[in-house]
Amino acid sequence: MQDKIETFKKILESVHCVKNVDDAVSAVLKKLLFCPFCSEYFTDPPALKDHIQKDHPDRLKSMTIRVEDHEVDEDSETIYICPHCHFAVDDNCPSPTSSIIDHIQKHTKSIDPTARISFQISNDEKLIQKYVDGKVENELFCCSFCTDIFSNRESLLRHISFKHSDIDPENVPYETMKLIMDCARDFPTVKKAKVKYKSTAYSF
Ligand SMILES: [Zn+2]
Ligand SMILES: [Zn+2]
Ligand SMILES: [Zn+2]
Repeated sequence: MQDKIETFKKILESVHCVKNVDDAVSAVLKKLLFCPFCSEYFTDPPALKDHIQKDHPDRLKSMTIRVEDHEVDEDSETIYICPHCHFAVDDNCPSPTSSIIDHIQKHTKSIDPTARISFQISNDEKLIQKYVDGKVENELFCCSFCTDIFSNRESLLRHISFKHSDIDPENVPYETMKLIMDCARDFPTVKKAKVKYKSTAYSF
């Protein structure tokens, strides 16, 4: 409890342009990362990730999913495969590399927009036939909040802490909100006092 109050105070000291209690509260809320599975919150992504791994491991499980979304036809010789969901396009596509890059960018946007894009190129006839027959299966990690899917646990974890750690102020648990309000209440008064003092000094 005490260290949470310290955390809020530290955040409040670092914010500027706070005019009232509401501003101060929303400044604190903006800096916090909320666990989307419980009422815990953290100030940095590694702490949130550790918490999810430790307390919600069942939310990071993979499942076997059949790859139904692809553009691979019977007569393909080369296919370009997405490393995330195993979607594939073939060389009949007018520009297979830009198609696969466009597709992969949709994933990287939700994990890490700066990530390097790479994909697999295959001439494996058996694999191509498997795509055509709809028999490619894949272990995937699915986000429980949106439709995004990932090829590994770490990417799903990164995605959850990056995309789903904001909270709607209306959903903040009462106890947490009260604690933040208590810290925020003093804050604008201190600032206002400073402003007053300055203007009085100025009029002399
Ligand atoms: Zn949690
Ligand atoms: Zn994909
Ligand atoms: Zn998601």
